[in-house]
Amino acid sequence: MTLSSTTPRPLIAGNWKMNGLSAALDEARAVAAGLDRQPAAARVAVFPPATLLHRLAQAVEGSFVLVGGQDCHHKASGANTGDISAEMVADAGGKLVICGHSERRTDHGETSPQVAGKAEAALAAGLEPIICVGETLDLRQSGQAVAFVVNQVRESLPLSLAGQAFNVAYEPLWAIGTGHTASIDNIVEMHAAIRAELISLFGEQGRGVPILYGGSVKPENAREILAAPDVGGALVGGASLKAKDFLAIVEAA
Ligand code: PEP
Repeated sequence: MTLSSTTPRPLIAGNWKMNGLSAALDEARAVAAGLDRQPAAARVAVFPPATLLHRLAQAVEGSFVLVGGQDCHHKASGANTGDISAEMVADAGGKLVICGHSERRTDHGETSPQVAGKAEAALAAGLEPIICVGETLDLRQSGQAVAFVVNQVRESLPLSLAGQAFNVAYEPLWAIGTGHTASIDNIVEMHAAIRAELISLFGEQGRGVPILYGGSVKPENAREILAAPDVGGALVGGASLKAKDFLAIVEAA
């Protein structure tokens, strides 16, 4: 990836989803060790399940690996059984948090305004949010993908993000966990549309906000995707579970 002096380093984010028991901490340690041997051109973050967040943060402490939560509630505390707040993510050692992943939107009915509330909570807790957007296959096939995603950006990003560090992740639902990656043309078209909306919402700041691509990123396709215009990193699911594959993607950045 070609970087100008004002372009932030790409972010390679590994989303473990609902995977990982104690033994998986060794994979995180292996990522940290791999980066120590060869400091990366990218920022690297791992998003374990909430049960491992604190121990993983301790396991990689002092390394180049950042740690984050996969979700947070929009409130700081309360009667919300099973949820965790942004403050809790930060207290456990998290520096970032994913907001509005499509699996949260689909499985838990999260709406874009709710995602915006989570991003607000993340900022209040000092976390850097990664706000996810993406269209279904039906929307893509009916030619509505760009309009839908741009609207998601508008509704999911609170204006309080102005002046704060944050990222957007474009993840077409039909590419997540399916092995089908979006074409480079699809990615470039969508990232340009998201960029235009970011500039319209945040002015000059919108030019530098990293837009990550997610959807079946693997060592074999990472280099081409990460070299595409306006791709500021990758949100990686399946291929982030093994340190060797994840490090190969980091190396491609
Ligand atoms: C994801 O978890 O956001 C994701 C893109 O998953 P995968 O890389 O497995 O498609």
